[in-house]
Amino acid sequence: VSRFNDITMAPPDPILGVSEAFKADTNEMKLNLGVGAYRTEDLQPYVLNVVKKAENLMLERGENKEIPYHLLDLNVLYLPIEGLAAFNKVTAELLFGADNTVIQQQRVATVQGLSGTGSLRLAAALIERYFPGAKVLISSPTWGNHKNIFNDARVPWSEYRYYDPKTVGLDFDGMISDIKAAPDGSFVLLHGCAHNPTGIDPTPEQWEKIADVIQEKSHIPFFDVAYQGFASGSLDEDASSVRLFVARGVELFVAQSYSKNLGLYAERIGAINVVCASSDAAARVKSQLKRLARPMYSNPPIHGARIVANVVGSPELFNQWKEEMEMMAGRIRSVRQKLYDSLCAKDKSGKDWSFILKQIGMFSFTGLSKTQTENMTSKWHVYMTKDGRISLAGLSSAKCEYLADAIVDSYH
Ligand code: PMP
Repeated sequence: VSRFNDITMAPPDPILGVSEAFKADTNEMKLNLGVGAYRTEDLQPYVLNVVKKAENLMLERGENKEIPYHLLDLNVLYLPIEGLAAFNKVTAELLFGADNTVIQQQRVATVQGLSGTGSLRLAAALIERYFPGAKVLISSPTWGNHKNIFNDARVPWSEYRYYDPKTVGLDFDGMISDIKAAPDGSFVLLHGCAHNPTGIDPTPEQWEKIADVIQEKSHIPFFDVAYQGFASGSLDEDASSVRLFVARGVELFVAQSYSKNLGLYAERIGAINVVCASSDAAARVKSQLKRLARPMYSNPPIHGARIVANVVGSPELFNQWKEEMEMMAGRIRSVRQKLYDSLCAKDKSGKDWSFILKQIGMFSFTGLSKTQTENMTSKWHVYMTKDGRISLAGLSSAKCEYLADAIVDSYH
């Protein structure tokens, strides 16, 4: 008899489980709009040319697996706990802008984390240790893993209104009143751009009002930036929400990910940045982030960090990266437009589909209910998450008409 009899079977992950079901389907029309990973027009995974170039450069320089000793503070082949210095420098500059005063005054504590997820988890551990009892406010809905992350870190959270099903848009008044109603000094988790799963972002004017309320309440903004450059095609534009708060002199957290914008998914490359009021505070915060990381995973991976450092650090590669990001964001925008056109052409009910065009980034929230999404899968072999989210990155122009047929049929 097993000592593990009390361990029950865990439920499958709701997002990754969609891909499992897709694989098992033998219908040739099947379409996987579940996972948010970029695909080409032929629905194939895409490795950025700029990543291949950076890797070739690294090979030529003998940088690949063996780490030059000048990069190490110990005589062993590990990165330091905080990660690759060259990566940490460029990742903060990319986010805040190299000429930002918070960078010049060394007021940012940046630690390389295990992509977006690991960086969020590290920040959650810091909150748990140094802000006992503080609550994190999370948008309703949000990326499914946010709740898991704060649950496992034993950080209490509650939701603020975000999505309005009537308009398939932002419930701005609900959002503001929930942020106001929270205890002073709460953390407010915000998606820097391309909100997952809704694709609905506040306007610049709405961001200003959100910042007003957060400051009034002495809350601490906690940005999750998983799509910088991938939403609008512009790195600066996608960082504007974060920069708006930084310009107001607010202390804040930002978790970054290179999964989507550089396609480094499995390399697990990202960072946690804590903007502090003084360089002294930043040094202390950084030291504690390192102390939390050490027993969790010791140190982060080097290969992808070098790719980022090489791409961002070389003007030629950096420009090519921007072009490839514009290409990816552009392809997603064009299937978004085509899906909208197809829906308008096929749906005779007079329903207003313009919400699809107002959304930004990889995802579109269709407003389909749970039973309607079940129809999408059982009848049309379209795989998506049960909240009604589709990943446009998994859609090709050729499949837009078919998808529109499926959506119109499932809605009515
Ligand atoms: N935050 C959000 C909002 C996301 O959509 C994702 C990716 N799905 C992540 C964080 C983290 O992804 P990763 O751990 O691959 O960087």
